Amino acid sequence: MSIKNNLQELKNALNKEVTLVAVSKTKPISAVQEAYNAGQRIFGENKVQEMVGKYEELPKDIKWHMIGHLQRNKIKYMAHFVDLIHGVDSFKTLKEINKQAKKHDRIIHCLLQVKIATEETKFGLTNQEINSILNNEELKTLENITISGFMGMASFTEDKTQVSKEFNSLKTFFETSKNDFNTKNIELKILSMGMSGDYKIAIKNGSNMIRVGSAIFGNRNY
Ligand SMILES: *Cc1c(COP(=O)(O)O)cnc(C)c1O
Repeated sequence: MSIKNNLQELKNALNKEVTLVAVSKTKPISAVQEAYNAGQRIFGENKVQEMVGKYEELPKDIKWHMIGHLQRNKIKYMAHFVDLIHGVDSFKTLKEINKQAKKHDRIIHCLLQVKIATEETKFGLTNQEINSILNNEELKTLENITISGFMGMASFTEDKTQVSKEFNSLKTFFETSKNDFNTKNIELKILSMGMSGDYKIAIKNGSNMIRVGSAIFGNRNY
C-alpha cells in the first residue's frame, strides 16, 4: 500500500470531527512530501531537531505538532513555528513555552499529558496534578500560551477492554475539566488520544485528534 492509499483509507474511516496528525518521526522528507501531495497538512514529530529540519525543507503551510517528551532547553528551537505541543507535563515547561513564544510574539497551543496507562514507563500527570496546574494563579500571567486540551496514551496491550477503560477515564476527566475551567488561556477543546494500534477504540471513547504513524508510513526501524 502506498502512503496515499493508506491516508485515503484512514480518512474514509474517520468522521469530520476527528483531526488526523500524521506521525512522520524517523521517516524521510520524501515520505512527508508524499503525504503532503495527498492532501495531508498536519504532521507530528517527537524530536525537536528532526522537526526543525523537516520544517525548513517542506512547504510552509504544514502544521507541525510536537508529540514527544519535551526537553525544556529545546523549546526555543521550535517556538517560531510549532503549532501544537501535545506532551506538556509540568508548569515549569508551560512557563518556558510561554517565554519562548513571547519572543516571537506568538501564542503556542499546548495539551497537558494525562497519565492513563497503568504502565510505569508512560509519562503524564495525574488528574490532581492537572487540576493544580489549571488552578495555578500564575497561569493567568502566561499570555503567550493556550491550554487547548489533553493528551493521553493507553497501555500497550492486546486487552481492548483495558485500553477502552483508560481512554474512557480520560474522556470523562476532559469533560469535567471543560466545565470547571474556562478562563482566558484555558480552552479545552482537543482530546488527543489514539495511535495506529488503538485509534478506533480511542474514537469510540471520544477522541477528536489521533496521532497515526505506522498505519500511514509503514513500520519504523526501531
Ligand atoms: C510514535 C508516536 C505515535 C504514532 O505511533 P504509531 O503506532 O506508529 O501510530 C503517536 N503518539 C506518540 C506520542 C508517538 O510517540
